[in-house]
Amino acid sequence: MTGPKHSCGVIGLYSTKDDAAADIFKALRIIQHRGQEGAGISVFNGTKVVTAKGPGLVHDAIKKEDLGKLNGMCGIGHARYPSAQTKGEKNAEPIEVEMTHGTVAMAHNGNITNYQELKKKYLDAGWSFLTDSDSELISRVTAKYLVQNNDPIKAIRSMMSEIEGAYCLTVLYNNKVFGVRDPYGFRPLCLGRIHDKGYILASESAAIDIFRGEFVRDVMPGEIIEITADGFKSHPSPTPCQTAHCMFEWIYFARPDSIINGREVYEVRRNVGEILAKECPADVDLIMPVPDSGRAHALGYALGSKIRYEEGFMKNRFVDRTFILSDQKQREAGVTLKLNPIRSTVKGKRVLIVDDSVVRGTTMPRIIRMLRDAGAKEVHVRIGCPPIIAPCYYGVDMKSRDQFIALKYSLEETREQIGADSLGYISISGLVKAIGKPENDLCLACLNSRYPTPIPGETHRFQSTLNHSFE
Ligand code: SF4
Repeated sequence: MTGPKHSCGVIGLYSTKDDAAADIFKALRIIQHRGQEGAGISVFNGTKVVTAKGPGLVHDAIKKEDLGKLNGMCGIGHARYPSAQTKGEKNAEPIEVEMTHGTVAMAHNGNITNYQELKKKYLDAGWSFLTDSDSELISRVTAKYLVQNNDPIKAIRSMMSEIEGAYCLTVLYNNKVFGVRDPYGFRPLCLGRIHDKGYILASESAAIDIFRGEFVRDVMPGEIIEITADGFKSHPSPTPCQTAHCMFEWIYFARPDSIINGREVYEVRRNVGEILAKECPADVDLIMPVPDSGRAHALGYALGSKIRYEEGFMKNRFVDRTFILSDQKQREAGVTLKLNPIRSTVKGKRVLIVDDSVVRGTTMPRIIRMLRDAGAKEVHVRIGCPPIIAPCYYGVDMKSRDQFIALKYSLEETREQIGADSLGYISISGLVKAIGKPENDLCLACLNSRYPTPIPGETHRFQSTLNHSFE
């Protein structure tokens, strides 16, 4: 609840029955945590692509009566979290573009780093845009190439050669469904098989589990996967890819029961806690999580330190999420609506709370004050993510340096600011070890300012030498 916000979730599905929309709806509800501003589903009904989308949570955005009209064997879905620049209903996805050959609809998770430059190029060429969303640009550029050659793989490859940054896409082109992952694999996308039904593409593997489906594999960086009722076809990247998986997917975004790039999220978080206990020990009576995403980190810390684990907060699950997310002040006030300490657990105790990450550090002082008011003798804080010091350009809502508490203050000053008795973060090397992948396979740019791709206007960067031209 103190961390940055998600960057959307996507689904693609090909069924052997006429009920793709109902299954996409279920899958979207499973990845709802990735975006709550809006949701949408597009299906091919045998004649044309039809879409239902709207604001709010999946079950509010797609009404029962609309779902009933979405009859078709294949389709895509989207759960949306907006960036500051792209709030509002007009940016809801999937985005459809109609052409002479048919309709292409797209759902996107990520952020295109050369969006402004490309948008200007196409505005200069006489195009006009209906939204502020990079997803519209991607759809329109793909449609441009589809008009030229009516070959979806070629068209998607041509589009990929123009855009830079982070993108996982599900694409519906008439009766064809594709999953596309950028050459760095920043955001997750995986493939599953639903027994007796067909194939599913999803941002997280938990969406496959809901059908008791079989996790087939992650979509590889730079790969396009085409799914049909009978199976799937891989179109691998024609050039080598340099992987840069977002570390935040494991630390904060993804559900603990999802497997991201071959590593289970829960296991990684528990590893983080265990390593954190070794790196930043504390003499305390009990370990507590900040629910929910800090839970596995805290459990790991308790295992690593051999100190008792307790649930010290009651979480109110019925607070209106959109109210809390709508602005920073409301988010801070929302902490008291959302969390309440369990007095008998904390009274007279030296407690250590473990949270997944700290960006601004504005909600943590309230949490600590609540614990002291409830009688905690000492409150120590441990964070399962190293200090965030640089903006994210790959789809996570952390855009400017002035918001980062770790850039404004030293560790000791931060401790004072939030009112903790002690404060410790996991190290970058500890985090990499917990994830269990080579450092070179990860994006750690918000921790070390080394960006895997060129970023317009960003001076601290490490530019890949690989050429991801797909043409
Ligand atoms: Fe993830 Fe940080 Fe890289 Fe953004 S900059 S993709 S949040 S690791």
